[in-house]
Amino acid sequence: MSAVCRSVRAVTPRIVKTVDEMLGLSARYSLERGITGFVPTMGSLHEGHLSLVRAAGELCDRVVVSIFVNPGQFAPGEDLDAYPRDFDRDLELLTELGVNYVFAPSPEQMYQWGYQTWIEVEGLSQLLCGKSRPTHFRGVCTVVAKLLNIVAPSLMFMGEKDFQQIVVLRRLIEDLNFRTRIIRCPIVREEDGLAMSSRNQRLDPEERARALCLRQALQMAQTAFENGMANPARLRNIMSEHVRNCGGRVDYFEFVDPASLQGVEHLEPGTRALGAVFVGKIRLIDNLEIQ
Ligand code: AMP
Repeated sequence: MSAVCRSVRAVTPRIVKTVDEMLGLSARYSLERGITGFVPTMGSLHEGHLSLVRAAGELCDRVVVSIFVNPGQFAPGEDLDAYPRDFDRDLELLTELGVNYVFAPSPEQMYQWGYQTWIEVEGLSQLLCGKSRPTHFRGVCTVVAKLLNIVAPSLMFMGEKDFQQIVVLRRLIEDLNFRTRIIRCPIVREEDGLAMSSRNQRLDPEERARALCLRQALQMAQTAFENGMANPARLRNIMSEHVRNCGGRVDYFEFVDPASLQGVEHLEPGTRALGAVFVGKIRLIDNLEIQ
């Protein structure tokens, strides 16, 4: 596929609120020439999201960004209601980047009365984050499958911050013969190394300082590996102790093969180290490639 450079200019994106309107638009642009790039988000945009939009702008002729806080991927008791939302600011940022379409449906648009269909990628969805969030990936897979049908993109841009999500969705795309290819983009971090996340806004200043323990623990694994330690259990102990000392609570630390997400017996270059940690009530995730 040839990459087309698209000049970035400040046009007001077309805001699309209904599934029918977006289906009509995608049917039309699919008949035209050019590559459609898609960036699915839950809004409350930060530089991590914007890096995906810029990557889409570089490679594609038209860019669609969705903003949808998907109830289907939050379990009861999780932070669906507290999830930050700021549509006007999101729209300003997307206008500056010259996005063509902002698809922002309501939950009722996406899950109409009588909705009953769910998509599950077995196996991969039960590992890592799936252990403590057993229905999360079924919600993600279902909404992404719907969005791919509605938006009909050639390329979908996703961040490595949600590493497991990319692996699960690659499986979904291959298994269900979707035509879209995922473009994987690197994690964007704050100056001090914290992975950017919409949920970071919910940390108070003291929690914000403690939140660094996740990134630090992952870096400790890298340093220990450089010093000859390759045993996952021993590394997990060191990392968990660091998080506890910082006042955080470990959900998991795992060292996995990046394609299968299966735990490795010994670390090697290319192993993916992933972690999830609670700081106060906020659950943060991060990962790195062992080098
Ligand atoms: P979300 O709005 O959290 O559903 O994320 C939408 C997309 O942005 C997903 O593909 C995420 O992986 C990506 N993303 C979120 N945070 C970051 C980050 N710090 N760096 C790169 N991509 C990110």
